Amino acid sequence: MSGQEKSWKELMFAAVSPKPSTDFLTGDWKTFKPVYDEEKCVGCLQCAMLCPEGAIIWNATAGKVEFNFDYCKGCGICANECRVKAISMSMPDKEE
Ligand code: SF4
Ligand code: SF4
Repeated sequence: MSGQEKSWKELMFAAVSPKPSTDFLTGDWKTFKPVYDEEKCVGCLQCAMLCPEGAIIWNATAGKVEFNFDYCKGCGICANECRVKAISMSMPDKEE
């Protein structure tokens, strides 16, 4: 059987994304949006490490985390994992 297998060069094209993953703005998916309480944050970066979209960035100058809402899909993992409850999830206004 192995003698009849095709190499990757001989395989047909399958599903190929028409654009890079960075062009898929997963922020369009969200229903809930994280709300950040800077006063409670202790800067542990657990939220940034666990965000599946890499949408949380540490701003060293400001000493706080920032959210990239183009990619935040509203999953709520950051809010769930923050041990000091510095992030909560809210339903944004439809106009936002
Ligand atoms: S997990 Fe909570 S305390 Fe830690 S950096 Fe994120 S918001 Fe701040
Ligand atoms: S809600 Fe989900 S996607 Fe958005 S910042 Fe939190 S962990 Fe990341």
